[in-house]
Amino acid sequence: MADLQEFRQSVRSWLEANAPKTLRGKVTDLTFTYSGGRKGKPPHPDCIPWLNMMAERGWTIPFWPKEYGGGGLDKQETKILQEEMLRLELPPPLSGMGITMIGPTVLQYGTEEQKKLYIPQIVKGEIRWCQGYSEPNAGSDLANIQTKAIVDGDDYIVNGQKIWTSGGNESDWIFMLVRTNPNVKKQAGITFLLCDLETEGIEVRPIKLISGASIFCEVFFEDVRVPRNQILNRVDGGWEVARALLGHERTMIAGLGSRPAAPTAEDRVEAAAKKNIGLENGKIADEVIRSRMAQVQIDESSFKLTVQRNSDNMKAGHRPGPESSIFKIYGTELNQRREELLLSIFGPECLGWEGDGFDAKELELCRTWLRSRGNTLEGGSSEIQLNIIAKQVLNLPD
Ligand SMILES: Cc1cc2nc3c(=O)[nH]c(=O)nc-3n(C[C@H](O)[C@H](O)[C@H](O)COP(=O)(O)OP(=O)(O)OC[C@H]3O[C@@H](n4cnc5c(N)ncnc54)[C@H](O)[C@@H]3O)c2cc1C
Repeated sequence: MADLQEFRQSVRSWLEANAPKTLRGKVTDLTFTYSGGRKGKPPHPDCIPWLNMMAERGWTIPFWPKEYGGGGLDKQETKILQEEMLRLELPPPLSGMGITMIGPTVLQYGTEEQKKLYIPQIVKGEIRWCQGYSEPNAGSDLANIQTKAIVDGDDYIVNGQKIWTSGGNESDWIFMLVRTNPNVKKQAGITFLLCDLETEGIEVRPIKLISGASIFCEVFFEDVRVPRNQILNRVDGGWEVARALLGHERTMIAGLGSRPAAPTAEDRVEAAAKKNIGLENGKIADEVIRSRMAQVQIDESSFKLTVQRNSDNMKAGHRPGPESSIFKIYGTELNQRREELLLSIFGPECLGWEGDGFDAKELELCRTWLRSRGNTLEGGSSEIQLNIIAKQVLNLPD
């Protein structure tokens, strides 16, 4: 215990002395999210030194093994570091698919050589990753992927197309599923590849959305050479890896909005209700809204504790299994309920898309609400999660 107190003291002093003053107090500001990489623009110039100084200690992912550049901290030390960062209200130095999805998967399935190569780059945020799973005819039926990889000497030659690749145009590498054997059961002929997006023959085309933004891309592969040593696990062993990664993805999506100290139902919804509806005898004046608020607050608090317990277990080496689908359904539906509640509180003010009639906060509310609709699709739709829970958690018959 004395050791932990000493550890806390040393973390506190180090953060006090080094963490950029400009980033203190920004933990609740979700625009202070930085995914690193060669193309990434930090939301503030000080995000770069903040990332570098944390990465140097392995504290971007403090519980990963030291030998691969992680912090090597145990569960309690990791918690202390998080608490001390929260004390100064510092945002996480690094976010993205590297640390939440492909990193843990490389640690689980990578060869020693792959771990030594990729994990330190992920810890330092040197490369940003995107996910090449979905294809035009392989969304929910993910095992139906048709992007082909054919062996040629020490390489695979890849041809095909991915779609809905989030952040593809801002990423450096893609982790992807390819078909290496068309003559077996669909799942048995898939290989998991890691690929540098700068490789000749790759074209990334942003998909322009109605908002004018392009968070999704199509990625085209024409005779792209990918060295064999960029296969994760064995040839035709990609389905197992794909599912393991989805466990991490679903756990991450479920925790949406549960960044420590991020605005909770209590502060975000309550502030909105006080301002827009007002108080009567010290209570929110609208009885129906009040009751919906109470329900969201109760559900959010209990879910946050469950997510925290799960994330503590993961720091202690637990790997998410099919039960991550339960988290995904609950977390995403809760997030949508919260956004719907805000919509009811703000009414028409929340319906602005652009133009002078709405201030920045109102426009953000509308966009956040609409973005939450995608939560129950990305990482596998809710219906697919229910199928997984029925079959793999409850062992119900087909
Ligand atoms: C915000 C967002 C980000 C995304 N980012 C990425 C990314 O970075 N990389 C990537 O590879 N993909 C990404 N996707 C794609 C995502 O994985 C797919 O949208 C998802 O798997 C559903 O596939 P689909 O869109 O083809 O829908 P479909 O598979 O066509 O499904 C349409 C509807 O039918 C239902 N349905 C389909 N099959 C069944 C079934 N067997 N039983 C019951 N209902 C069924 C579905 O639930 C859904 O409601 C993203 C999607 C969103 C919304």
